[in-house]
Amino acid sequence: MRFSALRVLKEGLTGNKGWTAHWRDPEPKAEYDAIIIGAGGHGLSTAYYLAKNHGMTNIAVLEKGYLGGGNVGRNTTIVRANYFLPGNTEFYSHSLKLWENLEIDLNYNVMHSQRGLINLFHSDGQRDSFARRGNAMINQGDDAVLLDRDGVRKLLPYLDYENTRFPIYGGLLHPRGGTARHDAVAWGYARGADQRGVDLIQNCEVTGIDIENGKVTGVQTTRGAIKAKKVAMVVAGRTSQVAAMAGMKVPVESTVLQAFVTEGLKPVINHVVSFGMGHFYISQSDKGGLVFGGDVDFYASYAQRGNLPMAEHVMEAGMTLMPMIGKAKVLRSWGGIMDMSPDGSPTIDKTHIDGLFLNCGWNYGGFKAVPASGWCMAHLMATGNHSEHATRFLLNRFKTGYDLLDEEGTGSQHNLH
Ligand SMILES: Cc1cc2nc3c(=O)[nH]c(=O)nc-3n(C[C@H](O)[C@H](O)[C@H](O)COP(=O)(O)OP(=O)(O)OC[C@H]3O[C@@H](n4cnc5c(N)ncnc54)[C@H](O)[C@@H]3O)c2cc1C
Repeated sequence: MRFSALRVLKEGLTGNKGWTAHWRDPEPKAEYDAIIIGAGGHGLSTAYYLAKNHGMTNIAVLEKGYLGGGNVGRNTTIVRANYFLPGNTEFYSHSLKLWENLEIDLNYNVMHSQRGLINLFHSDGQRDSFARRGNAMINQGDDAVLLDRDGVRKLLPYLDYENTRFPIYGGLLHPRGGTARHDAVAWGYARGADQRGVDLIQNCEVTGIDIENGKVTGVQTTRGAIKAKKVAMVVAGRTSQVAAMAGMKVPVESTVLQAFVTEGLKPVINHVVSFGMGHFYISQSDKGGLVFGGDVDFYASYAQRGNLPMAEHVMEAGMTLMPMIGKAKVLRSWGGIMDMSPDGSPTIDKTHIDGLFLNCGWNYGGFKAVPASGWCMAHLMATGNHSEHATRFLLNRFKTGYDLLDEEGTGSQHNLH
């Protein structure tokens, strides 16, 4: 089934009876060429690109819950390529290019909206560091515009410019940054992978990883044993638990990140805005809700819900930046389990066990990485070599200290540095 304007029109006029299921619901086979654990954004995109770019279709994606029920359907949907350091810049740049063609590639409306992202700065020092970051983005071939205070005011007139504690000096505009509908991204990749023959198996928890003589041979699941010579762990916040099944201790901690959405309002915020002093960022969804979030809760947890002190902290930062937000009613809040790495950067790598691969450490920024992560992970699994876009996300960097990368040089928790 392909989507097109004509098809939507035809179905609309004939009672919407011709739509078929987006993907099959197959029984697991006894053996596959490759198994991907986790049907989040990264697991599904890995399966899609394995099939599309490398012709590997005898694959299963095993999901313990329902497809897209993890962080891929819980995030605040920001898509950007505004990193500073080599290693990250080329990876996120590649990801953004994939985003820009994603709807055509998947034949699926993921509602990618390049409405522009503005990172505010509030001091001379911060301006310098954003200017450097903007130059790095331009050198990478991406876009960045340094705005002064008046430039920001023209675009975001509703901010509090007279705040004596946190005066707004300007902002770094990333015009190609924006948002996308998160669960549609999971569904689009799932549909694309399924159409190419990949088995998406939900309600199938992996409970063990089989290893013989240093080689992976398959997995144990709640729906029986399944054999495969290649197995990828792509489970985000559950990385430590799944890696432990292979006897591995991975330098990742699981922490909750919360998000909030208000009642639907008329269009008021037409960019993604990120506060440079409090940890707070906001955009407006196509339904009108203000979608916002802030810092991670400051303790490790596997609970998919957050605590009230962090909710208060986020609201406080929002009120400081844009007092008008106090009039909006918060409708919902939720949490997701983040796989926080010590340096704020991900891992896309082989492990010391032959055939066992690891994709993790996406912290609070892995949604925008979904296309490139799947692309690079598929390349690694199919060819055994790292993709040119992800040569530095190596697990041994935590042993060697070589190639430690991070977004801002502040590690995974900005406020602790
Ligand atoms: C509130 C919030 C806001 C965020 N905002 C942004 C943002 O604006 N921009 C951005 O780029 N990123 C953002 N992120 C981060 C982003 O969502 C994550 O980094 C990314 O989604 C993680 O990768 P994933 O999609 O593969 O994870 P998930 O969707 O969590 O996928 C992992 C899957 O593995 C499954 N699994 C786990 N254990 C097993 C097992 N034993 N067997 C089988 N399956 C298993 C889980 O059920 C889950 O479905 C945000 C996250 C949250 C929670």
